[in-house]
Amino acid sequence: MKVAFVDLKAQYQSLKNEIDTAIRNVVEETAFIRGKYVEKFEKEYELRYGVKNCISIGNGTDGIYIALKMLGIGSGDEVITSACSWIATAETITQAGAKVVFADIEPDYYTIDPADIEKKITEKTRAIIPVHFYGQSAEMDKIMSIAGKRGLYVIEDCAQAHFAEYKGKKAGVIGNAGVFSFYPSKNLGAYGDAGCVITNDNDFAKKMRLYANHGSIDKVEHLFEGVNSRMDGLQASILSAKLPHVLEWNRKRNEKSELYMSLLSDVDKIILPKVRKECTHVFHLFVIRCQRRDELRNFLASKDIQTMIHYPKALPFLQAYKYLDHKKEDFPTAFIYQPEILSLPLYPELTYEEIRYVADSIREFYRNKSS
Ligand SMILES: *Cc1c(COP(=O)(O)O)cnc(C)c1O
Repeated sequence: MKVAFVDLKAQYQSLKNEIDTAIRNVVEETAFIRGKYVEKFEKEYELRYGVKNCISIGNGTDGIYIALKMLGIGSGDEVITSACSWIATAETITQAGAKVVFADIEPDYYTIDPADIEKKITEKTRAIIPVHFYGQSAEMDKIMSIAGKRGLYVIEDCAQAHFAEYKGKKAGVIGNAGVFSFYPSKNLGAYGDAGCVITNDNDFAKKMRLYANHGSIDKVEHLFEGVNSRMDGLQASILSAKLPHVLEWNRKRNEKSELYMSLLSDVDKIILPKVRKECTHVFHLFVIRCQRRDELRNFLASKDIQTMIHYPKALPFLQAYKYLDHKKEDFPTAFIYQPEILSLPLYPELTYEEIRYVADSIREFYRNKSS
């Protein structure tokens, strides 16, 4: 049996009519950049998310950059973020002109460790970017309390956590801003690049909206220089067609994850994901920690099961951050976890038989190894 890591075609087939109509509408009305479909999606996202402002942008990476810039963060400032994320979270700090400061992760949930944030704070620290990693929120109460005491801004990287909840609050509305990516394989995915920033602060929202569109208030006047980071109409229209289904898809991701967990619960060579108390996980990824990870991965590949690693190297150990001169002792948890993590196939349309086959194959691998 062949098991794909994700199957975006399965989702398209389940919504073919809605999506085809969504695309045709934009083309027939030539509403290509911004325009009525983009405004419609922003309003719908605000409503479903329960937030005052949704600012559509070109992609999630730009969202973090734009939020940092419009908070006035730049040269001479430091911004603390998680050692474990996609590089977008860190590179935007440098792009804004500030210094990237990494904090280690919590061993149970793989999100930024509040205790290590406190250790990394200096006179120059201006903001924290927690990442709601793999679909689960960082420890926001502690992060907000640290930020409150020190007067720091908090930008939540929600690229992997659409509609995840932390103690009854949605990820993205707890800090000063929440940034989302609608990259095709995210829990809510467009058919190309797209993203948004949400915030309840109307003035901040207004600045980000201007900055994302050349600082332009109309075709005549530009209040300041900005960037070109606009959502296009096709992406917005497709996202509007998909948005009503996200909660259902998140529920299915949870069901599939629970099935994996029950089928793998007695395999002592692996550590299953843990869900934080009073929080919901939206399982953007189903990540296990395992012994002999690379051997297991090859074995699964020989059985036609696709797996991935998110991410093969923690950010401080990348070539790109060699200049920070970090050693493994600086991030003990991130360092230990890096060679153990493996993301198993997971998407809402994955079948019971496929999950069973993946779980059986993992059991087979460890059975053969121990005998
Ligand atoms: C996908 C992702 C981003 C970047 O989003 P793009 O839309 O690809 O620019 C940022 N942070 C995290 C954690 C991501 O997973």
